[in-house]
Amino acid sequence: MIDLRSDTVTQPTPAMRAAMMEAALGDDVFGDDPTVLALQETLAGRLGYEAGLFCPTGTQSNLCALMAHCGRGDEYIVGQEAHTYKYEGGGAAVLGSIQPQPVENAPDGSLPLEKIAAAIKPDDPHFARTRLLALENTIGGKVLPPGVVRDAVALARKHGLATHLDGARFFNAAVASTGVAESLAQVERRLLEGFDSVSICLSKGLGAPAGSVLLGSVGLIRQAVRVRKMLGGGMRQSGLLAAAGLHALEHHVARLAEDHERARVLAERLRGIPGLSVEGPHTNMVFVRMPPERLAALTAFLKERGILIFPSARLRLVTHLGLGAADIEAAGEAFAAYFREDPFS
Ligand SMILES: *Cc1c(COP(=O)(O)O)cnc(C)c1O
Repeated sequence: MIDLRSDTVTQPTPAMRAAMMEAALGDDVFGDDPTVLALQETLAGRLGYEAGLFCPTGTQSNLCALMAHCGRGDEYIVGQEAHTYKYEGGGAAVLGSIQPQPVENAPDGSLPLEKIAAAIKPDDPHFARTRLLALENTIGGKVLPPGVVRDAVALARKHGLATHLDGARFFNAAVASTGVAESLAQVERRLLEGFDSVSICLSKGLGAPAGSVLLGSVGLIRQAVRVRKMLGGGMRQSGLLAAAGLHALEHHVARLAEDHERARVLAERLRGIPGLSVEGPHTNMVFVRMPPERLAALTAFLKERGILIFPSARLRLVTHLGLGAADIEAAGEAFAAYFREDPFS
């Protein structure tokens, strides 16, 4: 199958499975699973944080961060389109009693400074206590403009707010931002400057079967361990999964550039089809707008040819390590064939 639905569909590679089989294991709730500890320390060290916490999902890792930063009746400023706000079941409000203060994202995905500033409440009993600014990078596949991020983090600091980055696809942002002047390691550190915490998914483009890591100070992670336990995320021989994450960090980061290149080729092929409106690529994502009444037939046509998409009026096509150059050509050709057989009138 050529699965363009998401980068979460990746299967562990044979080498990753071998690393999992060989992992030394303990009981992570007792804090003695050596592979989990190694994953947490490796990623924290790499990205310049004191400590890390391995969580089963990115949703839980983000919620651990929000609940470690904010208490009941506190408020966090977040993008209207942000995953933590829009796609995590309202967990911050439901489970954390944290009031979200959503702010409209600009078309580039960033939060306009004046909107952040206007959302910060004065210390007054009428208002919830504004505690935290949460950003997301990449967002909808887009890398946030670094200048805007820097200014937003500085503004948050000036007002005494903490900062969290939902970096589910942080390494896509880092790899896409690497030029001749800076190494990947330098870019990684630069993109995280000023953030008190960051959550990174291992189960998306990095290709691990499950898991996210939250990074922050020792004090913040101590709080987050408590929240994770409460949320049911204390796992036992989770070194099995952490081993996949360690393998991914070593072998699957730089190769994200291939996914970005494949998204570029896919966008180019789709742009050659009359009547389709193509947006992107944004790192490993391409978006296609088409008349909704054609979606069901296109989806079925592609499925017969072994190509999977999630039908949506704004189709999101995602490249990942399960797709090679030939798969992208085949997908482009299948889209073209469908619209040749059934052209826009
Ligand atoms: C996938 C994702 C998450 C976490 O999702 P899980 O499925 O819970 O691992 C968080 N933020 C963003 C931006 C994501 O894309």
